[in-house]
Amino acid sequence: MQLLEQRQQIVDFGVKMIKAGLTTGSGGNLSILCPDNNLIAIGPSGIDYVDVKVEDVVIVDRKGKIVEGKWKPSSELSFHLALYDKRSEITAVVHTHSVYATTIACLNWEIPAVHYLVAFSGKKVPLAPYATFGSTELATNVANNIGEHNALLLANHGLVAIGADMNNAFNVAEEIELVARIYYQAKSIGQPVLVDDAEMERVMGKFKTYGQQDGD
Ligand code: 13P
Ligand code: ZN
Repeated sequence: MQLLEQRQQIVDFGVKMIKAGLTTGSGGNLSILCPDNNLIAIGPSGIDYVDVKVEDVVIVDRKGKIVEGKWKPSSELSFHLALYDKRSEITAVVHTHSVYATTIACLNWEIPAVHYLVAFSGKKVPLAPYATFGSTELATNVANNIGEHNALLLANHGLVAIGADMNNAFNVAEEIELVARIYYQAKSIGQPVLVDDAEMERVMGKFKTYGQQDGD
């Protein structure tokens, strides 16, 4: 079996996504790009995360051709591929239907800099216009709206997060869900005061060295 390590991560992070309350059933999807051989491990379509085993994960090439696997890959394969094409530095994509981010997406709003943690995405979380799930139009909308951000709302659908690795992309999804919840709550009782542009630049700079760095 190819990409065993990546297959295991798809299984583990699928369960983690359910446990963290970021999605339900088989909603959302995960993929990992292996730069050594340019192959992608992606979850199978429509199978609950708790039931997915390593052998159920599908391996595809950069054009989406199945290299190994007995199931259909995630119906959102085309936007995963589009993100790897668009952002050469990433190796992981996480798509969730997390409730607060999706609530904002159903208003067709972006998430502004309501809290400094929006820096997990960038200065904001932009919005991709609605298109049917699994469509090439949705993939185009995703590619056209991610820009330099690490997260993107999908109108009337959910959230996409990307990262240098799966751990990173998952953190982005988790933190942006928190920011979406804060935005929702703040909007419910008043008018949130936004963090200004210069301060967001400063925060994004500090994020580059936040925590324990290699060599610390
Ligand atoms: P898949 O089960 O095909 O990955 O689809 C879930 C989903 O979230 C579609 O947008
Ligand atoms: Zn979805």
